Amino acid sequence: MKCLITNIAQLINTRTSVKLLRGKDLAELPIIDDAFLALENGIIKDFGRMDQISNIKDDLYANFDIVDAQRATILPTWCDSHTHLVFAASREDEFVDKIKGLTYAEIAAKGGGILNSAKKIANTTEEELFELGKNRLNALMQLGTGAIEIKSGYGLDTENELKMLRVIKKLKAYSPIPIKASFLGAHTYPIAFKDNHEGYIQLIINEMLPAIANEQLADYIDVFCEEGFFSVEETERICNAGKQYGLIPKIHANQLHASGGVELGVKLGALSVDHLETMDDAAIQALSGSETIGTLLPTAAFFLRMPFQPARQLIDANAALAIASDFNPGSSPSGNMNFVVSISCIQMKMLPAEAINAASINGAYAMGVGDELGSITVGKKANLIFTKPIPSINYLPYAFGSNLIDKVMINGVFI
Ligand SMILES: [Zn+2]
Repeated sequence: MKCLITNIAQLINTRTSVKLLRGKDLAELPIIDDAFLALENGIIKDFGRMDQISNIKDDLYANFDIVDAQRATILPTWCDSHTHLVFAASREDEFVDKIKGLTYAEIAAKGGGILNSAKKIANTTEEELFELGKNRLNALMQLGTGAIEIKSGYGLDTENELKMLRVIKKLKAYSPIPIKASFLGAHTYPIAFKDNHEGYIQLIINEMLPAIANEQLADYIDVFCEEGFFSVEETERICNAGKQYGLIPKIHANQLHASGGVELGVKLGALSVDHLETMDDAAIQALSGSETIGTLLPTAAFFLRMPFQPARQLIDANAALAIASDFNPGSSPSGNMNFVVSISCIQMKMLPAEAINAASINGAYAMGVGDELGSITVGKKANLIFTKPIPSINYLPYAFGSNLIDKVMINGVFI
């Protein structure tokens, strides 16, 4: 299938060569005004200014179907590199309890928190979880998400962690967008191992990981590295065990405490360290110039009423930043990347160009799809957002909460 998209008001993030963006490079967002975009079999074949095709390349596109963009702005779809999209039930009762002033400990005592999600996963079948996941995935694609990472971590025993990962594997087979799976058995300690942390770590390393590797269910290994959860030493052991099976670390770090998770991630060669609400100088320095991507999850900070991540300090320190939704029922019950881009500008003072790059090209690198998605580049997949008429690209994060997406194209086909 050959298609020539004409009459594009602005074509965003056009790049002839691509690399992970860090520091001041994040603020460079290449744009072509009055553009065309040529696709072949769902892949970007060419792009440029409209006046180039009328004068030079007419014959080249004689047998292409013409799609008139009608002055839409077109940008690459979002690459959401951190989600917990597979879950059994929402947790709005806890949301109301928090508004009423209940503490985390009080909510946990009522059966809330991650263990609440774990109990519900245990009582939900693989088929039901797949249906729920499929519906959420389709809704997010309509909101412009064109690649997504999904974690396990609500199973917390071998049977249910495998169940979650098999659901993600089925979603991979079903989905037209790339999906990456992270094994997050080390999300918290299940009740059965409340007083036997070592026993649970042994279970992860000796039982869960071999079974997951055997069925090839995961791409990455993730750990909630946090005081009261998994220490730096425990995180290192679990990540190294995962690496034995070829799973690259992508870890939850520095959400509640500056506990050394970021430094550990860099030392382990993690693809990304995610959250970063609580950063000290050592953690910021560790990401300075590092290949490990700092993935900021501002909607989690927003929902939990926490201080936002220090994006500006990280950019000044020459870190490579991505932003992601952390979509999960407890602390970020929205996977809307448009809002993630907006809040990154509003609350973390990222420039629109920086937030858009962090949500697309760097998000792609943070889930291992940097060579196939995240920019308008020849050879990449045609996963594209067509906007409603907007005065400039800066309007996108500015008009937060407005759905400015007109259409979404995945692999060259409108969905
Ligand atoms: Zn998370």
